Amino acid sequence: MKQISVNAPFRYSIEDTECPKPSKGEVLIKMKAAGVCGSDFHLFLGENPMAEFPRIPGHENAGIIEEVGEGVTKIKKGDHVVVDLVVACGTCKQCKSGRRNICRSVKARGAAVDGGWREYFIAAEHEVYLLPEDLPFQEAALIEPFAIGGHCTKRAGVQGSDVVLVLGMGTIGTIILQVCKEKGCTVICADIKDNFLKRAEDFGADFIINTKTEDLHGRIQEYTNGEGADVIFDAAGYPGSLSMLLQKGIPANGARIVPLGFCTSEENITQSMINGRELSIIGTRMSSGQFEPTIEKFRQKAYRLAGIVSDTISFSEIDRVFKNMQNPPEDMAKMVILFGD
Ligand SMILES: [Zn+2]
Ligand SMILES: [Zn+2]
Repeated sequence: MKQISVNAPFRYSIEDTECPKPSKGEVLIKMKAAGVCGSDFHLFLGENPMAEFPRIPGHENAGIIEEVGEGVTKIKKGDHVVVDLVVACGTCKQCKSGRRNICRSVKARGAAVDGGWREYFIAAEHEVYLLPEDLPFQEAALIEPFAIGGHCTKRAGVQGSDVVLVLGMGTIGTIILQVCKEKGCTVICADIKDNFLKRAEDFGADFIINTKTEDLHGRIQEYTNGEGADVIFDAAGYPGSLSMLLQKGIPANGARIVPLGFCTSEENITQSMINGRELSIIGTRMSSGQFEPTIEKFRQKAYRLAGIVSDTISFSEIDRVFKNMQNPPEDMAKMVILFGD
């Protein structure tokens, strides 16, 4: 079988290796589709301080069960599955309270442990979820990022009556938009790219704001009748983005603000900014308990998937994926790698 290894920033190799055998409680997955996510970019571009090399990227993995190990009861050969991005111990306090995503020894697939950019790989039975047979694998690769959308909106306690502001209309911003629209929210989308804002409109955004050419504060005041937004997602996460979003007049009193990135620069935030309006700043990491409900939403066709993926690339043409990561084409939104039969 073939596998991709990122050996150092900007360096990768295509390796021939032996197909692994599943041990007790494990399953062998034949890969069918793998999404390319921002964190795969960070790994390859050397922008993930927690990454160790060599590493097989990929945490948005969908495939078919090829073989099951001893003691596997819920999954059988031929089942279609997606794989959890979280690898957790299952025994710590956090795991036991249903928060595997913040397990004390949590590992993200494709970053801290090897991911799915290979023809076959092994996962624990409890880390794979059954898919409807008629769901195309190309769509199944989007279940993981939609699980992220499900998780962060749950963390924020989003309800249909909320006015939501999403900054950053890349894949995750677009997904949060859809999850919030599905709940019945009014959603305001902000970005600096007109083509991303146009797409947000197509996906149901109630208002769009180009933060490069328009005044975010003024527009928010206008669109919320001076109230501000009830929930704010910072899916852009650049230095200063969080301080900008906390400006007077952008969050409503009592608003919940969810930063989604891992930006390490300091922000200009004071206690008074938070407590004067009793804001909640809510952390979110990966997802927990969201795969099954997300698969159910996919089964119900609750989301619009067309237009999220801009480039499907065959595994045999993996060089194109790395080329696009190094020099992203202007019109590229998201890549999905498709494996052969
Ligand atoms: Zn991802
Ligand atoms: Zn744990």
